[in-house]
Amino acid sequence: MQLELTEQQKMIRNMVREFAEKEIAPIAAELDKKEEYPTKTLEKMAALGLLGIIIPTEYGGAGLDTVAYATVIEEISRKCASTGVITSVHNSLAAWPIIKYGTDAQKKKYLPLLAKGERIGAFAGTEPNAGSDLAAMKTTAELKGNHYIMNGSKTFITSGPKAGIVIVFAVTNKAAGTKGLSAFIVENTFKGYKVGSIFEKLGIRASQTSELIFENMEVPKDNLLGKEGDGFKIALSTLDGGRIGIACQAVGIAQAALDESISYAKQREQFGQPIAKFQAIQWMIANMATRIEAARLLVYNAAYAKDKGERISKHAAMAKLFASETAMDAVIDALQIHGGYGYTKEYTVERLFRDAKITEIYEGTSEVQRMVIASSLLG
Ligand SMILES: Cc1cc2nc3c(=O)[nH]c(=O)nc-3n(C[C@H](O)[C@H](O)[C@H](O)COP(=O)(O)OP(=O)(O)OC[C@H]3O[C@@H](n4cnc5c(N)ncnc54)[C@H](O)[C@@H]3O)c2cc1C
Repeated sequence: MQLELTEQQKMIRNMVREFAEKEIAPIAAELDKKEEYPTKTLEKMAALGLLGIIIPTEYGGAGLDTVAYATVIEEISRKCASTGVITSVHNSLAAWPIIKYGTDAQKKKYLPLLAKGERIGAFAGTEPNAGSDLAAMKTTAELKGNHYIMNGSKTFITSGPKAGIVIVFAVTNKAAGTKGLSAFIVENTFKGYKVGSIFEKLGIRASQTSELIFENMEVPKDNLLGKEGDGFKIALSTLDGGRIGIACQAVGIAQAALDESISYAKQREQFGQPIAKFQAIQWMIANMATRIEAARLLVYNAAYAKDKGERISKHAAMAKLFASETAMDAVIDALQIHGGYGYTKEYTVERLFRDAKITEIYEGTSEVQRMVIASSLLG
């Protein structure tokens, strides 16, 4: 088993770390406050190839492996979790299913647009009554001539108001249950496509999360992804990879909490000495660092398994479950180390505290991750 990054992976991580320090960190708090989408940052990231990290070079992407991708999402999220999730969804929930299941024509048409950042990618599975139970979705797509006519609505869609290419799941055969769901590549310019309400959120406020509404939307027959009835399989396999991205986001948030805690503990003095001299503070920092290292190794393990072409459901669920719980533990301790100052918007830990929680919820809650892990063990 490989426990060390390759020279290329280290080079990418260092390049993104430098970029995030220079371009993302200075504006992260402001974007969070204003709930402003990081459009300019995404343009800069596109120029560096970060919006096409996993897209093959023949379609204009960087063609990197999942481990390199993991380092990119961690380093971006370490400075801005909103930019982290936008990048993760764009790469692993929008580009990946096209890479894996798309026809040559679909790949040629859509992957270069995603790789160059000319269109932002999104994934629309969740509906008001279909969250953890995705198969309960009600959106329908009915084939009429050369088009599917899609009706329904999706909710909580990351990048919803900004996305140009959305992987949408809909029922094409109600009687067939999960085998009656299909996946489609939808463009925001299709007639009948509408962005609904944009949610005001606790954290990742710059990522813009919205409803999407489809009213007699005409989706060309050629935009069916995979075969009719493949939708559930496509959704689950895509989410397996997506969970690696969210686990990386969680590690990035946790690492930021540790960075902030170390620096604050060294400069804050009480009882005549830096609080870093108190064992109570040292133990919190030691626990944080240990859990983060373990979470990162679980992430690399899942990413490495994906690159080897193994089944990753269990690995990805374990990585996401542990990394997201690590992020929550880390931000709670980091805020405690900052005392009253951590409770104010003057300090980064306040934003980290709000950003961490979502990693235990989206792309499958922690309860769902435990279900995935248990079912892979118990059958
Ligand atoms: C900010 C944000 C961004 C998102 N981005 C996207 C996106 O881009 N695309 C997309 O499709 N979706 C997205 N989602 C939706 C997200 O994936 C869902 O919110 C999540 O899967 C949970 O679904 P739910 O909110 O309906 O909760 P529910 O499924 O209603 O769950 C409520 C509670 O019940 C628990 N529960 C449910 N079923 C079981 C069970 N069988 N056993 C034990 N406990 C159970 C859950 O774990 C949870 O604690 C996003 C959500 C948010 C908040």
